[in-house]
Amino acid sequence: MTILSSPHELKNYLKDKRQTIGFVPTMGALHEGHISLIKKAKSENEFVVVSIFLNPTQFLKGEDLDKYPKKDEADKKICELSGVDILFFPQVQDMYGTDEVSIQAPHVRGYVLEGTSRPSHFNGVLTVVMKLLNIVNPTNAYFGKKDAQQLNLISLMVKQLFMSVNIIPVDTVRQSDGLALSSRNVYLNETQRKEALKIPSSLHGAGIMVSKNILESELIIKQMREILEPLEVVYVEILSREFEIIKQVEIGNSIILVEVKVGTTRLLDNIWL
Ligand code: AMP
Repeated sequence: MTILSSPHELKNYLKDKRQTIGFVPTMGALHEGHISLIKKAKSENEFVVVSIFLNPTQFLKGEDLDKYPKKDEADKKICELSGVDILFFPQVQDMYGTDEVSIQAPHVRGYVLEGTSRPSHFNGVLTVVMKLLNIVNPTNAYFGKKDAQQLNLISLMVKQLFMSVNIIPVDTVRQSDGLALSSRNVYLNETQRKEALKIPSSLHGAGIMVSKNILESELIIKQMREILEPLEVVYVEILSREFEIIKQVEIGNSIILVEVKVGTTRLLDNIWL
């Protein structure tokens, strides 16, 4: 595995590659969720690039940038063992200058759900993803369905800016008790981790309602909020795959999304129905 930190060096390295390139962007502290993206990229491409970059522009003031978990050496080992060809590990100064051009998230889809409480978050996400895609120029780029709004906005950017990369969604990896894997789970103490299980329970409950043909969004959201009590719910929404609010679940075209705060930790999860 080759490790590079310079965007120009990486661009140069990849410029004459005739192979298909699969790309997995991450912020590090890798877990089985990230590994499943890497495995999928390995199985669908001849060459795999993973980036680890804790992108400061997607964190708002007062958020957890400084205490975000860092596991550089373990991450390198995971990438090596997973058969990654290039690990791109840039520093902030390699990726950003001053007086920067940036991508603006769309005014509706970028400012609902997570974008309500984190207003400039998706500008930072889209800008760094655009930079990374331009550096790597992959055939396919892999993103988790767990961050459904992020996945939706990246797919939209690629379509609206006529970019040629394929965005490939990857299913959420969970622990055996249902909790979705997240780098932020390390912030939870034992009690909080138990409380956090209300999140997959609420989504499971929603799935059962839908299987019984109870499809009204209002009823499903009400039951989910009851299951989530007493956690602080940031939102529970039922949207179409195009991210429009829908009054009824439409099988094959719906996502139920939830964000809660457990202590000070924000946890996201969703179910695609
Ligand atoms: P992050 O390092 O949190 O920026 O995540 C990097 C990528 O991994 C994103 O595309 C995430 O959606 C994806 N990801 C994070 N957690 C999971 C998970 N539990 N299952 C599948 N993909 C995930």
